[in-house]
Amino acid sequence: MEEGARSCLLQSRSILEQDIKASYLMDHMIADGVLTRDEEARIRNQAVALLEVLLRKDNQAYISFYNALVCESYGDLANLLHKSLPLVSPEAEKSFSDGGTPYVQTVLSQGGVPQRPVVFVSRTALLNRLREKLYRLQKEPGWVTVFGMAGSGKSILAAEAVRDHTLITECFPGGVHWMSIGQLDRSDLLARIQTLCFRLEQQSQEQDPSLSLHRLPTSLDEAKERLRFLVHHRYPRSLLILDDIWDCSVLKAFDIQCRVLLTTRDRSLADSVTGSKYEVAVDSGLEENQALEILGLYVNGRKPEKLPEQARSIVRECKGSPLVVSLIGALLRDFPDRWSYYLQKLKQKQFKRIRKSSSYDYDALDQAMSASIQVLPEEHRELYKDLTVLEKDVKVPAKVLAVLWDLEPEEVEDVLQDFVNKSLMYRDCHQRPYLYYLHDLQLDFLAEMNRSCLEDLHTKVVCQYQKHYSQGPPTSGDQECLYWFRFLPYHMVKANLTQELYSLMFSLDWVVTKAKIMGPAHLINDYVAYGAVLDKEVRAHFQEFLSQNGHQLEQRPFPDVVQLALSQPDSSEVYRQALQQAQKRAAMG
Ligand code: ADP
Repeated sequence: MEEGARSCLLQSRSILEQDIKASYLMDHMIADGVLTRDEEARIRNQAVALLEVLLRKDNQAYISFYNALVCESYGDLANLLHKSLPLVSPEAEKSFSDGGTPYVQTVLSQGGVPQRPVVFVSRTALLNRLREKLYRLQKEPGWVTVFGMAGSGKSILAAEAVRDHTLITECFPGGVHWMSIGQLDRSDLLARIQTLCFRLEQQSQEQDPSLSLHRLPTSLDEAKERLRFLVHHRYPRSLLILDDIWDCSVLKAFDIQCRVLLTTRDRSLADSVTGSKYEVAVDSGLEENQALEILGLYVNGRKPEKLPEQARSIVRECKGSPLVVSLIGALLRDFPDRWSYYLQKLKQKQFKRIRKSSSYDYDALDQAMSASIQVLPEEHRELYKDLTVLEKDVKVPAKVLAVLWDLEPEEVEDVLQDFVNKSLMYRDCHQRPYLYYLHDLQLDFLAEMNRSCLEDLHTKVVCQYQKHYSQGPPTSGDQECLYWFRFLPYHMVKANLTQELYSLMFSLDWVVTKAKIMGPAHLINDYVAYGAVLDKEVRAHFQEFLSQNGHQLEQRPFPDVVQLALSQPDSSEVYRQALQQAQKRAAMG
């Protein structure tokens, strides 16, 4: 293997060893003839051993390994190896070359901009239109709205538009910062802006260690002001990308005279904010040749003209929807003889949605989803059904699913890999551990399909959590822990488990741990959001305690909450529990 390639493998070795699933990759490498069965037996599915063997091999093995990463949706890892590909095969180049320079890659990865999907086609005319609008922000702040139907490819377009060296250097030298928004309440929005502020402060501190990190803003107004300061003083001429905005009140939080690119289904959102505004409409479907290109990429990189005649009819049936075409493409990758079969499936109209969106054609999506689910092994199908309970726009780490499914982490990885390969799920590779999510429309489909058993599905989440954390809630503060603190009450409400909800939310222990990990804003929000289900009087005790002591609960070191709670009135449930704990402490000496 040539020096550059080997050096690149060595540099990326530990991250590869940590993240790859050797068995999947080896299948591809054996098929390419770069790995023998003997070697496979010796490697015994160990990533470390695979790397060891690979390092002793030739350029061809490096390319095969790279292609295997691409095929198995390890886009981010493939990206690490891409720059040192010895003899870049045209196919690999086409399916996963990031298009940007190393500088662009660094800027985008620092800003959390999603990577290009492994199977990707460029919508050149649309892309140019969007870039032309972004150039208008070169001299002055303003808003560029990308609007279109769900699943039309807005997010992918927005990420692609900024993958351009000249655009970034000329218009946004302050960087590009991505925020996934979706349907948020105020406390979620505050949390997102806090995260953004934290990221921005941390980055500027890395560049200038004399800068000190500030305490996180604790209200939306404060967060807006902090963001204004950061954008104007530390990141002038930067671009904020707000992905999937639903509500103009969210947009107002970013009305700070900065440069914003937003994606939305609602064209009129930007009417509520001030400054220059530009728009780009995204058609709900791809052009025919682009959709054919996607299908072709799934089936061994075949050129559109080499596809069977049914391909065009498939594209027509899906009306070019990129989401649907990707689902069908992933099916055809596994079953390349089924063109007619899937065409027929798409033509069936067996699903009747109650809630039809004005012009979006859900039928094709429903058919494609159902066909993809059908080819899952029986046990995976049940597991996919469990995902119905996820909230839209929420990304979960594999550990949450390991609890829900009661499976070992390796088994969870296998299942998730299967879902990702079938385009039934997406992986956010910016985060470690990886986070997984479904497209909103896929969740809509699941909710419709499983309408009759939603309560049972939520109950399963709660029971699995209780089984796993019978000794008390997690305290690690990692992504899994955050998920439970944020969504456990939600699952309880949806499961109609009122008693469980009472015990949880009227427990001083829960309040203390959640406030420590997430701050008090989320807690207060829970009492408001689930107010209708909770006992009015006790709820008021907790809310009063939180609103009186919110600022204290922001402090670090974290205050003694039992002490704080003892100053509540005697009649308060919060006081009663604190007293009990104080007595217990006293008894223990
Ligand atoms: P939206 O933001 O409009 O809801 P997304 O950008 O999330 O839509 O796209 C939905 C799905 O469609 C993606 O996950 C991907 O599978 C597919 N897709 C969209 N645009 C492209 C593209 N240019 N090339 C390949 N696939 C695409």
